[in-house]
Amino acid sequence: MTATVPRLARHLEGGPIAVEIRAAVSEDVASFLARTGRAPGLTVVIVGRDAPSTVYLEQILRSCAKVGIEGRRVELEDEATEGTITATLHALNADPTVDGIIVQMPLPGTIRLRAVIDAIDPAKDIDGIHPVNAGLLRLGYDGFLPATAHASVEILRRSGIEIEGKDAVVIGRSAVVGMPAAFLLVREDATVTVCHRRTADLAGHVGRADIVVVAAGHPGLVNGSMLKPGAVVVDVGINVVDGRLVGDVDFESAREVASAITPVPGGVGPLTNALLLTHLIRAAERQVGPANSPAPAS
Ligand code: ADP
Repeated sequence: MTATVPRLARHLEGGPIAVEIRAAVSEDVASFLARTGRAPGLTVVIVGRDAPSTVYLEQILRSCAKVGIEGRRVELEDEATEGTITATLHALNADPTVDGIIVQMPLPGTIRLRAVIDAIDPAKDIDGIHPVNAGLLRLGYDGFLPATAHASVEILRRSGIEIEGKDAVVIGRSAVVGMPAAFLLVREDATVTVCHRRTADLAGHVGRADIVVVAAGHPGLVNGSMLKPGAVVVDVGINVVDGRLVGDVDFESAREVASAITPVPGGVGPLTNALLLTHLIRAAERQVGPANSPAPAS
């Protein structure tokens, strides 16, 4: 008798896909520069010094530098008022050298998130947080997608995972990850269930899913015993446990049951960053208008 050795899931790595995307963006940036005489520009707005997302924003600025996008940083003091933040955003909206704006999240508790989001020009909202972009996604029109949600579906598409007709479960219903990921999966013709904190039988839903996208911010929320054999798992979680970066999925048990799984780190994260650059170049191209077709030879 031979013991069955479990076949481990394929790792869906975001890094190599991100490299491909950045190479394409570099070319687009070069032609934008040749056409307009300026590099496309991204501005990140940081409020306060110890914001948790500062590391993430620094990574974005480094990626910008690699592909020739001009990344700028506007730093406001911890005590910045809502009025200062919205005035800063209005100035950036009016600046033709600023093609995209990202505001550090979360903002200090005294600031109303909605007031800040509403102050971003939807045409420069490359992380898709403005209600206009959320509405465009909801209605199936082209807008800017929240980059993490975009990455969680794009990693499936680019890894050749079939989505059409599949049963997908999204865990998490946040406005920036869970819900947009669910809308994108519906757009890709999956049948989608959205689970959340009040879901009665999470394991039951997960156990029926061909594709599981986990964005709950809860390490170990999903493990191998909950998965349908052969399921594809996209882990959007980023948690620090005992000084280590882990996702929302118990990777070791999940990889023995799933057919494919995104690692943390190295899965959705690198792709999120690269996709933001594609959103930025699109915003820049839209801002300057379509390229003129070459003049016919006389
Ligand atoms: P993110 O920005 O990663 O989406 P949020 O904190 O905004 O994170 O949202 C977390 C989401 O995860 C919420 O929609 C919440 O309902 C869901 N969630 C949190 N804990 C659980 C849980 N134990 N089971 C199912 N869903 C959960």
